[in-house]
Formats: sequence, structure tokens, C-alpha cells
Amino acid sequence: MSVDYSKTPLESIYGENCFSESVMKQRLPKSVFKEFKKVQVGEIDLSLDVAEVIASAMKDWAIEKGATHYTHWFQPLTGLTAEKHDSFISPESDGTILMEFSGKELIQGEPDASSFPNGGLRATFEARGYTAWDTGSPAFLKADNTGLTLTIPTAFVSYTGEALDKKTPLLRSMDAISTQAMRILKVLGNTTSKRVMSSVGPEQEYFLIDKEYFQARPDIKLTGRTVFGTMSAKGQEMDDHYFGVIKDRVADFMRDLNTELWKLGISAKTQHNEVAPNQFELAPIYASANVATDANQLTMEMMKKIADKHNLACLLHEKPFAGINGNGKHNNWSIATDDGINLLNPGETPHDNAQFLLFTVATIKAVDVYAPILRASAASPGNDHRLGANEAPPAVISIFLGDQLTNILEKMAAGKPVEALDGKMMEIGATTLPKLPMDMTDRNRTSPFAFTGNKFEFRMVGSTQSVAGPNVVLNTAVASILDEFAERLEKASDVNAEIQKIICETYSAHERVIFNGNGYSGEWLVEAEKRGLPNLTSTVAALPVYIEKSSVELFGKYNVLNKEELESRVDIYLENYSKQINIEAGVALEMANRLIFPVVSEFAASIADTILSIKSVVPTADTAAQESLLDNLNGQMECMLKTGIALGKEIEAALELEDDLLAQAKAYREKVFPAMEDLRVCADALEKITDKQLWPYPSYEDMLFNL
Ligand code: ADP
Ligand code: MG
Repeated sequence: MSVDYSKTPLESIYGENCFSESVMKQRLPKSVFKEFKKVQVGEIDLSLDVAEVIASAMKDWAIEKGATHYTHWFQPLTGLTAEKHDSFISPESDGTILMEFSGKELIQGEPDASSFPNGGLRATFEARGYTAWDTGSPAFLKADNTGLTLTIPTAFVSYTGEALDKKTPLLRSMDAISTQAMRILKVLGNTTSKRVMSSVGPEQEYFLIDKEYFQARPDIKLTGRTVFGTMSAKGQEMDDHYFGVIKDRVADFMRDLNTELWKLGISAKTQHNEVAPNQFELAPIYASANVATDANQLTMEMMKKIADKHNLACLLHEKPFAGINGNGKHNNWSIATDDGINLLNPGETPHDNAQFLLFTVATIKAVDVYAPILRASAASPGNDHRLGANEAPPAVISIFLGDQLTNILEKMAAGKPVEALDGKMMEIGATTLPKLPMDMTDRNRTSPFAFTGNKFEFRMVGSTQSVAGPNVVLNTAVASILDEFAERLEKASDVNAEIQKIICETYSAHERVIFNGNGYSGEWLVEAEKRGLPNLTSTVAALPVYIEKSSVELFGKYNVLNKEELESRVDIYLENYSKQINIEAGVALEMANRLIFPVVSEFAASIADTILSIKSVVPTADTAAQESLLDNLNGQMECMLKTGIALGKEIEAALELEDDLLAQAKAYREKVFPAMEDLRVCADALEKITDKQLWPYPSYEDMLFNL
């Protein structure tokens, strides 16, 4: 599988399985290519004629490469991806076949994927679900043991157009922010840009463990995380893993992973050891939000697949191991024009300063006003272990701007002079900003939402999550503020004066969300409460925010998600939360009763036997140590039994609540989850005192220090 890059230059395989813009340019008639570019920037609608030509070119390309099937690839609300393969064959009456793929088949599919969660939407509207080609994200060839499949990124909607997936609202939110940002750019005198894209670069964290250990741990296998396990004597306290030398076995995995991603045209760029033992990170080069979302889904899939080939298991869960860091996904976000102007770039001209400050304060306001929805977009059962725990940003949303930018905005808001680059006093649109360092030395790792030079980094996102959700919220929230600004600017007689006013007013009104200090400290939580910043500490607390009036209005106004779509999402996510905790609790009980209990009983019996046999030889021998161990074992087993029974009862009670999804999820959060933790305390105590040779599953030490 490994490629020798001295013989096969990387440039020659990069994107070989991607129907990229350059492949299109080569294979499509010029006029069709031109028209398609117009479709991509939203200037015209896609015609069936154009689709017909593209479909035919795609099919020829795919077949030349060895593909036999195509699929409409979509992202249902499970958070995973879905595909159903159709072969290109079309039988002739003489027993031969033609290989066909029509424009219609490219544009729309009808997977009848009726078993995906739809939160009641399809029952209400129409049974069938349809997939629609996302023309902005390139088709690619996906390889598995069935062969190569031409894979077309699509959105998944109901017959009447309700979104049943993660992609549809993302595309709608990209339209919303483009429309509103373009209005601002027009006022600022931009005549060249046609569209504004939101750009996303997700940094993906993960763990690798030996596959044998993965197979031997029912909890990891079924839930992605350990529900039991005591930390080894060594954890991450030595900081010796972070950015350390990459071990050979991991390096082999990374090399093959990169190769597979590069072939797909996914720009894997950065790789390194992370803070926790056996934890790593991969970051691609950013792309437009829909392309980045697709690429990240594929990256996660590839990570698992390539790991398997290397006899490893890739753990993407937000908290596979207690006591050391979990996995996050930093969502780097910016907005840029189709002709390459990053609107969050401080820039070098007076014109840039107006643009940058305007888009920056719009983001600040959006994050402050819509903090609860942004928080909700990062809510997942796995992420509940991180947000608010001492490793990830707290569940309170705040923004890190860095001292320099904060200082500038504070002074401006207070009407105080700020010295500009050219030594003059700074004036919006007339002077240039003092230089903001791109790579700030005081980069703050504890902030959930940090300005990092020319983009914002949303650090709350869970490692298993699709980045679609958080970017839907970011795009829509910022679009709504840009809309407000545009209303004012379009009417203003003196645009620069109005911009200055907007910046000052907006910053003053939303300064409370700026926090440059240590987000992990206890004092910050107290301070945040004083400032009135919301603190939604769990998934169950956060999810209902989606259907509050202000959210319904926001998403409705920009046609991103209507009330029914939002309600269906909340239902699905709540149900998913309950199911996940239910599985975790079930596995915990299984492991306690059927793996731990028998082994510990046996061990206890062997200690009892030892005591008896020692006494039979030396009747006066002191066996206090053995007796104390035996006593301890018995005590902890009793504890395990009791907490197990209590957990079982809580599960039963939660299951009863199936008619009220919120009440059920609350029961899982408030009753089942803590009961599971109680059980863990006894089980982990037993692990600490039981013969390691007997212990029924691999320990943290085995899994984390053995690659
Ligand atoms: P760090 O770990 O220092 O935050 P990384 O290099 O690991 O940085 O990841 C930074 C991510 O941000 C990369 O995916 C990068 O492509 C992305 N990025 C850089 N510039 C932008 C931008 N303008 N918009 C969105 N993402 C960006
Ligand atoms: Mg990084």
C-alpha cells in the first residue's frame, strides 16, 4: 500500500481520485465548464443539458479509473455518512450492457433511505427522501473491497424540501452569509467579488491503540470510550508526548493515511503527537465550509480504515480515557470572497481596516447574541465529558481577541484616540490599523472562541462531530448581524462615519463576551456569571436552545432551518443522547457482572485458599495482609453489586419515559450517568487490587503505552 515518493512524486498522485476543477477543465467543453463555474458561484441555475455533459464526463473518467458503480453520498443526522451504490450498467436486449450515467442521475437521487432518523419530518410530509448534488464539492472515487465507486456529494431532503441531513442547512447558511456579506462589500465599494465563502479548517484529534486491545474492550468497541479503567501510574504529566518524536508504528499509519487522503484531493498538512499518550492530530489546509465538512467526514472514515489495516484502532471519541485529555476538533473559520479577500484579515490599507473591523465586530456580536446556539452546536454525549472539564474550554462561550486588538477596540469604543501605523491617529477607512501580529505569542489555548490573526478558532467542537452544525450556526448568526449592519450602511450618507459608529456601538454593547484570561480557571466562571454569560453545562441543557423563539426566528429568517426542521433535529439529538448513554450503561453492567465479578470472585477465593493453606502449614502465621485484601475485595464487590442494581433501576426508569424525549434525556443525564459513575468507582477500585494477570480486559497502561 505504501507509496515510494522518490519514484512516484506526490504531485502525480495528489487528487488522482478526485473529479477536481482541473479534471473538469480538461474533460469538459469550454462553454460547459464556464457555465458550471457560474452555477457554482450562484449566478445561474444548473441546466439539465450541462448536467448531462458533466455526468457523461464524470462517468468516463470514473470508468477509465476502474469504477463500476456510483453513489449519492450524504450526511444524515446520525452524524455519519451514507451511501448506496448503483452500477453504471444498462442491459441491452442482445445480452450486452451499456455503461450509463445521466444528468438526471447526477442531479438527483432517490435512495429511499427511510430508516434514517428524521424526527417525524418524513412521516408528516412524504415518505421518500431525495438526494441533490452539491455542485460546490467535488465528486471523488471511493475505494473499498467492492471496488471503486464514483461518489457524488449530495444534500438529503424530503419530497417537499425539508432538510433531513447536515449538508442542506450548511449550504443554506453559506448562501445567507454570502448574501449579507456581499451587501456590506458593495457599500465598501467592492465591485469585483461575486460571492463570499465561509472557509473552514478543522483540526482533528484522535487516539491510536492496538487493535487487539480494542477487541478485548467491549466498552470501547461498542461506545468508543472506556466506561471503566484506572489511570496508569504515568499519565500525561511529563508533557513528553506533545510534539514528541512520532513512533514508527504511528508514522507508518500516518504515511498511509496521508497518501489515501492526498489521492482524494484532501490536503492533509499537519500531523503531530498531542498532549495525551497515544494521542495525535491531523490538520488539513482550510477549504470552503461544505468541502471542508465532506473532507473531514472522509478523514475520520479513513483514519479508522487505515488504522485497521495497521492492526490499530483509531478512537475519535471525545473522551476515550478518564484522567487524560480527550479529543477535540478545532474549527478554524473565516469568510473570504471568491476572489481571495479574507474579510477577517487586518490588511494593509485604510480600506482594509474598515472592512476588517466591521466583520470582526459583526462576529463578536453574533457570538455574544447567539452564544447559546453556538454552544448547542457543540453538544454531544461525548463532548459532555470535555466542556467544562479541565482540558477543553468551559461551556461558557467567550472570545479571545488578544491584547492588541482588544486594546484598539476598547479605545475606539470609548472614543479615545488610537495611534495608527502611519503615526496618525486612527480613523476608520482613512488610516491603517496598527499591525496585528499574525502568529500571536500569547495565543490562548483556553478560550472557546479565539481570534488567531486572520480567522476565528471555535474550539468547542467534539472530535466525532460533523463540522456542519457549528458552521451552520456561525454562518447564520454572523449573516444576521451583517444584515443589520448593511441596513444601516446602505442608508448612510457618510459611510466611514457610520462604520465608525457601528464599530464603537457594537463593541461597547458586546464587550462582555471578550475574555483574554485563563478560561480554565474557576474565577472565570464566577466572572462570566457576573457578566451574564450563559453557561449551559450539558447536552441536555443546551439542545432545547435550538427551538427557543430567537433561534427559530434566526434560522427561519435566513431560510436555513424552519421550525419543524429545528424541532425534528432536537428530537433526534435528544433521542441519540439517551440511546448513547443507555448503551454505555448497558455495557458497564455487562462488564461488571460478567467480566469483573467472576474474575474477582475467583481471585478472592484464591486468597482465601492461600490463607487456609498458609495456616495449615504455619498455624501461628500472621495472614492479616491477605485477610485485609480479602476483606477489601469483598467490600468492593458488594459495592459493585449494589451500585449495579441501582444503575439497572435507573435505566429501567429512564426507559419508561420514552414518550417524552427531553424528560428521558434528562433522566439519562441526571440519574443514569451518575449511577454509572458510582459503579465505576467500585469497579476501578477492584482493578487496583486484583491480580493483573487475571483482569479480564486490557488496562490503561496496556492501551496507552504500548505502541
Ligand atoms: P494550530 O494548531 O496552531 O491552531 P494548525 O496548523 O494545526 O494550527 O491548524 C490551523 C488550521 O486553520 C488549518 O486547518 C489551517 O488551514 C486553518 N486555517 C488557516 N487559515 C484559515 C482561514 N483563513 N480560514 C479558515 N481556516 C484557516
Ligand atoms: Mg493544531
